[in-house]
Amino acid sequence: KIKTVNDNYFGSYSSFGIHREMISDKVRTDSYRQALMKNPSLLTGAVVMDVGCGTGILSLFAAQAGATRVIAVEASEKMAAVATQIAKDNNLLRTTVQSDGNNSKSTGVMEVVKSMVEELDKSIKIEPHSLDVLVSEWMGYCLLYESMLGSVLFARDKWLKPGGAILPDTAIMYAAGFGRSCTSLPFWEDVYGFNMSCVGNELVQDAARIPIVDVVQDSDLVTHASVLQKFDLATMSPDDVDFTATIELEPKSDNAVANLTESKAALCYGIVVWFDTGFTSRFCKEMPALLSTSPYTPKTHWCQTLLTLRDPIAIASMGQQPGDNSAVVGSEKCPVTRLSLRISIARGVEHRSIDISMEASGVDAG
Ligand code: SAH
Repeated sequence: KIKTVNDNYFGSYSSFGIHREMISDKVRTDSYRQALMKNPSLLTGAVVMDVGCGTGILSLFAAQAGATRVIAVEASEKMAAVATQIAKDNNLLRTTVQSDGNNSKSTGVMEVVKSMVEELDKSIKIEPHSLDVLVSEWMGYCLLYESMLGSVLFARDKWLKPGGAILPDTAIMYAAGFGRSCTSLPFWEDVYGFNMSCVGNELVQDAARIPIVDVVQDSDLVTHASVLQKFDLATMSPDDVDFTATIELEPKSDNAVANLTESKAALCYGIVVWFDTGFTSRFCKEMPALLSTSPYTPKTHWCQTLLTLRDPIAIASMGQQPGDNSAVVGSEKCPVTRLSLRISIARGVEHRSIDISMEASGVDAG
């Protein structure tokens, strides 16, 4: 059971560094750009809302793509002011000028509103169910940490037209087992020739209590991936983010030699979790897009999330007969053929934290 707190959420978003990090994450920003810019039948003439606009980058894409009205909502005072300035400097801010006595002329399509989306009513008038497109980049570490998804669903239910588009419209969480190469153990066991394994062992025990956000590579995995949970953003309810999933993980047949023990079993030290969000053909008819934060694709600022087991589990691999205990060494038990996993994720009592609990056990052959 873990708990994490962030008391200063909007404060943290007023520093430019975090916005630079997000914008520089090309995998992230290009997927939104593609969804917004390469789907003219969706965006041309559309009324769009961007929940949590930050610098306004997604709203700028929407405006560039031919939307007729873009409402960019941002709770951080600093960032709302910055987004307003940026929209103005790029000639995309909606400004109404009195051209002569009775006529006024509007230029630009983007309106920046400094507000929590939940309190937007107090600041501007928007007809209920009048939006064609609702876009937001709401995803946190492990998809749901610090998540503002609830705010996006609030806006969906209040202002999105029936059948209107939500971007992204799907989110899928995945899980796979990781090997020793992903832990602190290899580093500390040989430091300039000295054995500092005691540090590695302590770190692994700490990691069994607090998830670690780090980069995992395909070669670190000792099992195939399985879907942990799927969310349909167009239809889900805010409470769906609290879930328990039971899945099984199959060992990879080609586990790299580095991950193998003498008995040719692979030791699984924990479970890595990641997510993909989809801009599917449901709404992005001309050009769907996928934002993947997987270990198989180029890394993003979300990295992956590692949930470490208290004790590693040996799983059969490389042609080993399940149950073949002949060469088992050290802490290894009889290798199992599959891992059975039960993961629960729920919003924490602390605002924006999540609680994760995980139970893993081996499934023997037969
Ligand atoms: N859309 C920008 C920023 C994403 S970060 C981009 O893609 O680069 C999320 C932003 O949402 C932050 O700036 C945060 O301050 C804002 N935010 C989070 N919850 C919000 C809410 N309930 N109402 C308005 N803004 C919110």
